Amino acid sequence: MEKTPFKAESKRLLDMMIHSIYSNREIFLRELISNASDAIDKIYYKALTDPNINFEKDNYYIKVIADKENRTLTISDTGIGMTREELENNLGVIAQSGSLMFKNENEAKDGHDIIGQFGVGFYSAFMVADVVTVTTKALGSDTAFRWQSSGVDGYTIEAAEKAEVGTEIVLKIKESTEDETYDDYLEEYRLRSIIKKYSDFIRYPIKMDVTEHRPKEGSEGEFEEVLEEQTINSMVPIWRKNKNELTDEDYENFYMEKHYGFDKPLKHLHISVDGAVRYNAILYIPEKTPFDYYTKEYEKGLELYSNGVLIMSKSPDLLPDYYSFVKGMVDSEDLSLNISREILQQDKQLQLIAKNIKNKITSELKRLLKDEREKYETFYKAFGTQLKYGVYSDYGSNKDVLQDLLMFYSSKEKKMVTLDEYVSRMPEDQKYIYYATGQSYERLDKLPQTELVSDKGYEILYFIEDVDEFAIKMLMTYKEKEFRSVSSGDLGIEADESQKQAEEEATENKSLFDEMKQILGDKVKDVRVSKRLKHHPVCLTADGEVTIEMEKVLRAMPN
Ligand code: ADP
Ligand code: MG
Repeated sequence: MEKTPFKAESKRLLDMMIHSIYSNREIFLRELISNASDAIDKIYYKALTDPNINFEKDNYYIKVIADKENRTLTISDTGIGMTREELENNLGVIAQSGSLMFKNENEAKDGHDIIGQFGVGFYSAFMVADVVTVTTKALGSDTAFRWQSSGVDGYTIEAAEKAEVGTEIVLKIKESTEDETYDDYLEEYRLRSIIKKYSDFIRYPIKMDVTEHRPKEGSEGEFEEVLEEQTINSMVPIWRKNKNELTDEDYENFYMEKHYGFDKPLKHLHISVDGAVRYNAILYIPEKTPFDYYTKEYEKGLELYSNGVLIMSKSPDLLPDYYSFVKGMVDSEDLSLNISREILQQDKQLQLIAKNIKNKITSELKRLLKDEREKYETFYKAFGTQLKYGVYSDYGSNKDVLQDLLMFYSSKEKKMVTLDEYVSRMPEDQKYIYYATGQSYERLDKLPQTELVSDKGYEILYFIEDVDEFAIKMLMTYKEKEFRSVSSGDLGIEADESQKQAEEEATENKSLFDEMKQILGDKVKDVRVSKRLKHHPVCLTADGEVTIEMEKVLRAMPN
């Protein structure tokens, strides 16, 4: 039979899988089980929304069978199955998220990162298997098909026999070598513990034939071994479990299993609300910025379940843009299953949930800032820019929430400080919250414009991101204190005598300044005697609302 080659990207990924030195190979089982569960979800969802399909819960399960003699591990499900086209499209081409990964060649070199980062799904089977055979029959189809591949050289698809709708995946487990053992993946105890660890909350039974030692009937003290089909997972979704029963590791595993991120979450929130609106949610604040976070490709959203059934894998309406980094899921009994994306957006329940979630995230971030400063700073490093964009793009009341979460580098403290900390330290005679804009903290330390302010003993906030000053302009004030750039015309601290002195100097040197102005032409509006310099001969100041740094940003923006 002729082999169809994999698409280039799939090929590279497969290659990585096969030669992976990834220590966490066991996750292949999590991936295959989660695909099986997704496939059953699809039938279940169809049945709930289509009266012609009958869903008997007992008929839906996942089965894992290890055959040591033949070195095969079989994962079968009674899910929706795949047509020939689907086999071709789903297993021949790597999932969409995968195509992104090859953007950054350097990141792609180390298989470890990739596997962790994207949870490569189906292909992870090749970490433990030489040959993968998928036999599947789609719902509503008479023919079954078999897909087979032994890795990079491609795959074959042929017609096959299969009685029931669903999918069966047979892995020919690799032979152990001197430094690597794969035998584990054929051991009952090992498989059970992997299933327990990663797939316990799967809603459908994951069954295995388990060896039981039993007293032999009719004989004293003798035991016999019997194979008994058992359900390995508890089937209670993690979000329905009691918080007290769950460990940090459980939450981390759920995060990994769901591919919410490639890092370990910095913080999780487990929310159960039972009031005007009822819902359960598990939310995560990631530790690191996803590589595509500040690009158009990044899609915000939470998984949305209606009473345990997944209805949308990324519901954007549940999160405000400034919290777009939050990952996780929401399950509510109050949402209808038969709901379209457009209607959902206007759904009152959903809006209530979204508002509630927003408040929960805000209070968690505030708590983090108060009680776990270091963690908060890690968070802020990853997502602070997003919060500042949030302030900048907001015309409503959100800035009231966000302003307390902002941090900037302080000239005096030499570390990140909040606006509240700044204001609470202000001496009585200080009128404004001062800031300086530039490319780095080191450069700002040397900026002539900061001299006078620093000499007065005032603290200066250093802005090194483009968005900083724009965000501050939106805020205008914090606790009734105005923000003022150190390069603004009026710093509010020049003493009276120096003012007079400056005026005198200006008249004395009028012809010199006129000459300078003429030479500089359009480049400046005026040449004046400065009252703010100590060690530097000249500096530039801005006139009006838009500072020099903002002008640079505005000019750099595409029209
Ligand atoms: P993902 O699950 O993220 O979509 P995978 O690589 O795990 O990516 O799977 C690719 C696709 O193959 C799935 O989206 C699904 O359409 C299909 N698939 C995989 N396993 C099964 C299965 N057991 N039953 C039905 N379809 C499956
Ligand atoms: Mg998958």
